Amino acid sequence: MRSTPNLLLIVLDALREDAVPASLGADRRRSIRARTCLASAPWTLPSCSSLLTGNAATRHGHYWITNPLPTNALLGALPERYRRVGIVNNPVLSARSGLGEGFHQWKFHADHLAPFERALELIPTATSRKPLFVVLHSNIPHDYYLDVAAPYYEEAYPEDPGPPFVLGERVITWRDTDTAEREAVTRTYRACVQKTFALLDAVLGAVRERDDFVTAVTADHGEGFEPEIGRVHHAGRVHQDLIRVPLFFDLPSAVARRRHAELADTLDTHPVSSTDILPTMLMLAGQTSLPETDGVPVTAAPSGRVLVSEDRRYLYLKDRFRFNFHGRFKNMTDDEIARNQAMQADLGAPPVLRSFVADGHKLIVTSLALAANGHAPGRPALDSYAARLLGGPSVAYHGDRLYACEYYDLARDPGEHENLLSSTTTWPDVLRAAWPSAPPTVPATDGTETDLYTILAESELVAVS
Ligand SMILES: [Zn+2]
Repeated sequence: MRSTPNLLLIVLDALREDAVPASLGADRRRSIRARTCLASAPWTLPSCSSLLTGNAATRHGHYWITNPLPTNALLGALPERYRRVGIVNNPVLSARSGLGEGFHQWKFHADHLAPFERALELIPTATSRKPLFVVLHSNIPHDYYLDVAAPYYEEAYPEDPGPPFVLGERVITWRDTDTAEREAVTRTYRACVQKTFALLDAVLGAVRERDDFVTAVTADHGEGFEPEIGRVHHAGRVHQDLIRVPLFFDLPSAVARRRHAELADTLDTHPVSSTDILPTMLMLAGQTSLPETDGVPVTAAPSGRVLVSEDRRYLYLKDRFRFNFHGRFKNMTDDEIARNQAMQADLGAPPVLRSFVADGHKLIVTSLALAANGHAPGRPALDSYAARLLGGPSVAYHGDRLYACEYYDLARDPGEHENLLSSTTTWPDVLRAAWPSAPPTVPATDGTETDLYTILAESELVAVS
């Protein structure tokens, strides 16, 4: 591009990839849709930290606000003359999160309309001498379980298909919900998505009219709507409904046709990570020298990459109890808080859930370590946790740590229902032979990162019923 474009990164909280309306990518001359983009983490704080730093959650480890986020070198690659403004709509992203570091303004708005209004005020102020980099975050899709969603439902369904169903604090467990209520929950979510895109249209219209903004639209994670198999809400799991996120680029006409075509081709043929989004935007803005991060401009990504996503704070169990290590117990009952505290006393370290995606296959490893001086006697406690894990994993014990593995063929089984390791007692061999890439690394008993095959070779394999 000849001139310096403005940059607009739009993050729609908890927006599933399959919920995006077709209208978003309709203008093929401007819009490019990624076939597969994977978020670095399945919930807001670590995932947004990855979006803004270009580093994987495994590296930055920003799962608690009290863990400081390392200095954002990627933001440092943006020329000084850019005015950097963050407009966020989820309290976990407020200035206390550290995400606003390096921005001239970083403001949390509790109101749903305010971020869009603020963006519409800002966009006309961009000049070629003082270009803008704006992060616009909306929590509307995320908030489908709150009372604030009811008016969006009335707007979306004037013909009245039945009342909305607001889950409230039951969002984590969906406890005591019947079939009709569950269907209404999904409709309520869709109404929130519709509202989001109605508001977003005005913002996209404003940047398209100026034709000097490089815009990306994405989400920090998805949302689960399958209570029957324990996949609800977000965090504590790394299934595709949570880590597969939408990614659209909207480009000004000054981007060279060749570059546009190259980007479109890459995004159509290669899965990308959410850590790649900001490096790609910077590349489109003409920045050729970027700091080393896990994410890269997508057209410069090496082939055969393994895309890693991680949670290191939450863990969903079969009965839809979501454990929260060192959490604040939002949306939990007194009983659930007591259960959480007992489990935290059992475990010596936060759970580690990691997914590895390569060549259309996905490996999920869940690792739990018992506390050295915990109340739980080792073996029965490991057995009890192994039996309560989601997804019918194949389990190995290594000292006081368990490793639960699931392996899926995403092309044949996009819903991740059939663990390809579960039918055999020699599953580590099956995995080693099938996994197309270098051995994945996982935390070992002493806390260091070790290759999974070495750990499995030293482990006791157990059958979980
Ligand atoms: Zn979120």
